[in-house]
Amino acid sequence: MLNLCSSEKYKNVQHYLDWLATFGETADGGVTRLLYTEEWQAAQHALKEEMREIGMDPYFDKVGNLYGRIEGFQEEKQVILTGSHIDTVVNGGKYDGAYGVIASLLAAKMLFEQYGRPRKTIEVVSLCEEEGSRFPLTYWGSKNITGEYSLEDIKQLEDQNGILFQDAMGKAGFPIAAYKGDKRSDIEHFIEVHIEQGAILEKNNIDIGFVTHIVGQHRYTIQFMGESNHAGTTPMEERKDPMVFAANCIDALTKIAKEEYPGLRATVGSINAEQNVSNVVAKTVSITLDIRHHQEGILKKYSDEILQMITEKANESGIICKAEKWADSLPVALDTSLHSTMEKIAKNNGLKSVQMVSGAGHDSQILGAHYPTTLFFVPSQKGISHSPLEFTKVQDLEHGILLLKEVLYKLAYEGVQ
Ligand SMILES: [Zn+2]
Repeated sequence: MLNLCSSEKYKNVQHYLDWLATFGETADGGVTRLLYTEEWQAAQHALKEEMREIGMDPYFDKVGNLYGRIEGFQEEKQVILTGSHIDTVVNGGKYDGAYGVIASLLAAKMLFEQYGRPRKTIEVVSLCEEEGSRFPLTYWGSKNITGEYSLEDIKQLEDQNGILFQDAMGKAGFPIAAYKGDKRSDIEHFIEVHIEQGAILEKNNIDIGFVTHIVGQHRYTIQFMGESNHAGTTPMEERKDPMVFAANCIDALTKIAKEEYPGLRATVGSINAEQNVSNVVAKTVSITLDIRHHQEGILKKYSDEILQMITEKANESGIICKAEKWADSLPVALDTSLHSTMEKIAKNNGLKSVQMVSGAGHDSQILGAHYPTTLFFVPSQKGISHSPLEFTKVQDLEHGILLLKEVLYKLAYEGVQ
């Protein structure tokens, strides 16, 4: 007989989130829960206990993704997977990732209590890592489900304190000797609810955002080399000043993005100058360039146009220019086949919804390239995220759970494909 009664103390989503936030809470109300740390381990084990109390069969995979399984009664053993990530950035908020885990847990729990065992197996997942905050790699959780990582990828990695990835992993109870990097082949659908981490929903008074695409990203470091010289004795017309050159480029690339590429985001977020002193014309200036769009063709067209523009301008100005691309991720089109059903459910419950593109990366981006994946957002107050100030109203949190519950019902109980 299944035990359907979870502990009374965490009956609602806010209590659940506040409880989860105690694992790694910081002095100013934030959360730091980095992969394989003690706080991370405590949180995953507490969730495992919670899953067991709800009546799920909880288990860890070889890297520390935690699953709560409710076995379906049909013979084919495809899984409807739902959840998000448990790790945070340093001093992050209590909603990013955690909300998706708790929402999935509560939605599955309610369905289980109301309707019993589903036709198709449901698994709630608390993914071990998404943010890349402790070790220089991201999506360790989801990419181990899709089989995109191997031990080679982590062998040399260490955190800021010099602790090796594999040692941290082993100490947390996941020895690399037991590691398996196989792709899961039993997932029929992945569904994730997440806070928006932007302000579009709030600004437009919309309750739910259905995500059609997650943007692809190109990231560059571009270095401009000129001639270092005396600020007082070098006439303006004789200078090869990479600082002025960088400023002109930033202005031009921003203008082109705004005027010719609607929906594209181009950001120069970091600039470094050498010698970086007030009375010397700089010798080199490096900028980073982060470009995002949901269509690969447009991403590429803009990147090519900007690099060509910079090269031509550099040739005219006697500046030497070097561009290095260090990140290149493809945009992902998510499954939209459930959107009209979800829109109806939202409407019937008095909720306004919209289709949108996600400018931030999510686990859905990884899983969405391998399995039909549905991602939707609830509003973030003022769009603030990765901060202790991250906040979503309890009503909005509940809307997300309600919708998730209804969709899980369609997928796992009615067997909609
Ligand atoms: Zn997240």
